[in-house]
Amino acid sequence: MRVPIVAGNWKMNGSRAVAADLLDEMVENMEGVEAEVVICPPFILIPQVAQRLAVTRIKWGGQDLSAQDPGAYTGDVAADMLKDHGCDYCIVGHSERRTLYGETNQMIAQKFAKAQACGLIPILCIGETLAQRERGETEQVLSQQLDAVITQVGIEGFADAVVAYEPVWAIGTGKTASPELAQEVHHFVRKKLATKDNSVAHKLRIQYGGSVKAGNAEDLFGKPDVDGGLIGGASLQAAEFVAICRAAR
Ligand code: PEP
Repeated sequence: MRVPIVAGNWKMNGSRAVAADLLDEMVENMEGVEAEVVICPPFILIPQVAQRLAVTRIKWGGQDLSAQDPGAYTGDVAADMLKDHGCDYCIVGHSERRTLYGETNQMIAQKFAKAQACGLIPILCIGETLAQRERGETEQVLSQQLDAVITQVGIEGFADAVVAYEPVWAIGTGKTASPELAQEVHHFVRKKLATKDNSVAHKLRIQYGGSVKAGNAEDLFGKPDVDGGLIGGASLQAAEFVAICRAAR
């Protein structure tokens, strides 16, 4: 049995006041939610989030991390620092990092390895662009993204990780993948990893991300290989996010 996991990616949004209200409303309404819930705020809000969520069952994590050990890397945040602030998870390879900051599959694989070496569970984002989908390259692109990580840490690395399938064309666009399309891709990912280790693949939680809302979450999460979601925009609205969490059973 895989326990579904819903993670909120606040991206570069929020202030101390906004975060305080959002967290209060979320926490007050989480009763009965069965999924594991994770909040990934901007780095600067992590201490506040950690303090507020410490006495709840909601976990927290980073949106990115440095592949380097602490040292002279201006502007970066080390995995150790996230762990020191009580993070359990860290997103790696979000499509915005890949496209806006030129992160390659190899760089992301190094971040994945560093997260695990420091006791964080990486949430590895993979996904194809619209052009890649239209050229029929989806499976090839996802395979390359996964293979880079397998080369870095081995298939065993996926025993303590989460994968988020996030088609780039669905992120922040309002265009959600249909539940059938999501299932087809999630099944492909699990089958591909199962060729290396069936048990690891079977236990791996694969989230769907891309314009998930309260209105479409239940259908998406109802598919057998969809184990929850990575939620961007909707994670900034407490009622919407809680409804999404509730839909993951
Ligand atoms: C994301 O940023 O990971 C994401 C899925 O965003 P949205 O839900 O806004 O599409």
